Amino acid sequence: MGKILVIGCGGVASVAIHKICQNSEVFTELCIASRTVSKCDALKEKLQDKTSVKITTAQVDADHTEELIELINKVKPEVVLNLALPYQDLTIMDACLACGVDYIDTANYEPEDTAKFEYKWQWAYRERYEKAGITALLGSGFDPGVTGVFSAYALKHYFDEINYIDILDCNGGDHGYPFATNFNPEINIREVSAKGSYWEDGHWVETEPMEIKREYDFPQVGMKDMYLLHHEELESLGINIPGIKRIRFFMTFGQSYLTHLKCLENVGMTSIEPILYEGKEIVPLQFLKAVLPDPASLGPRTKGKTNIGCIFTGKKDGKEKSIYIYNVCDHEECYKEVGSQAVAYTTGVPAMIGAMMILTKTWDKKGVYNIEEFDPDPFMDALNKFGLPWVVEENPVMVP
Ligand code: NDP
Repeated sequence: MGKILVIGCGGVASVAIHKICQNSEVFTELCIASRTVSKCDALKEKLQDKTSVKITTAQVDADHTEELIELINKVKPEVVLNLALPYQDLTIMDACLACGVDYIDTANYEPEDTAKFEYKWQWAYRERYEKAGITALLGSGFDPGVTGVFSAYALKHYFDEINYIDILDCNGGDHGYPFATNFNPEINIREVSAKGSYWEDGHWVETEPMEIKREYDFPQVGMKDMYLLHHEELESLGINIPGIKRIRFFMTFGQSYLTHLKCLENVGMTSIEPILYEGKEIVPLQFLKAVLPDPASLGPRTKGKTNIGCIFTGKKDGKEKSIYIYNVCDHEECYKEVGSQAVAYTTGVPAMIGAMMILTKTWDKKGVYNIEEFDPDPFMDALNKFGLPWVVEENPVMVP
């Protein structure tokens, strides 16, 4: 049917690319482009004999719009799937705009020097994308991504009005290291060391990092400690889900992770302020990333399951009700299928599905949209088909 250009070739991209190769009815050609082209070549080598998708590779520095424009004009894809880092969102959006090509990503823009992610920079492209007759689908990972699709699905099929959403992201996996992050360490540590916040009655309530802790007994995983974090989908769901009164986001962390993080913070290793080291400027967090295990290497050693989902409370026919929609994903099963652990898997699969929705014009609205603004049903069907089956539980245990 069409050609896709994937930018980035890390943990999430590797899964999305495996899934693109399993879906040759939709994706007939694939170009993998990233900063380190040897990673793209290695993946092509691994997959090309197992799929009828025609794979090519390219080197690109996605910090430079001109380079991207040249690449897009050469490859001529129908869609560009951005699986590089949040820092590259705007340069890639600019290039898509210049070339008239649809854009999909999994994380909102974050300026490299401020550790503050917000949608305002990407939402500012709305009119220009509309005028150019192209689509940007923002946040097509799991959270953001599937959590937004779950919200639209709950609203469409279970509620007249949703008032409360608790998004629960549980990783019950164990990789055997005292400290490692499951996705890009720099992005992960920036996220968890920032202040927490939740959306209530039309405004943000800010908390200290890890200030709010709850326990929850996750289906198929068990009892875990989880902590309230700021998370990007709170911003768009607060606008796109009518009648919403409060949205919170919780993520589970083990004690070892938190103790190491505190210690690294206390000694200044998580700082994003550049320092001079032997005459050279280095960013401590980037140096830390270089010494930590590569998330891609966790695949073969991670055991256990993830459970990510949303608890919705609202009204149907005048009565209050609650449901919990979640997916459980097994790290070892993911590794067997695509050579990655479940955190990359749960992001890479929806990234492929989002690209499929746009490429097939199943979702066809011109402008810049968050994922919950589209019809959730075809996406929910595709989740079942491509490895992320979901469960709807009525009357779940609520978060205290
Ligand atoms: P990785 O660090 O594993 O991969 C990032 C890739 O992008 C690498 O291949 C890297 O190249 C490439 N890259 C970085 N900078 C550039 C550049 N300037 N030009 C070209 N390529 C570049 O990250 P992940 O795979 O873990 O994460 C990918 C994205 O997914 C991130 O934006 C992350 O925030 C998002 N994410 C979203 C989630 C969700 O649920 N929505 C969950 C997890 C992640 P090189 O190999 O040279 O370093």
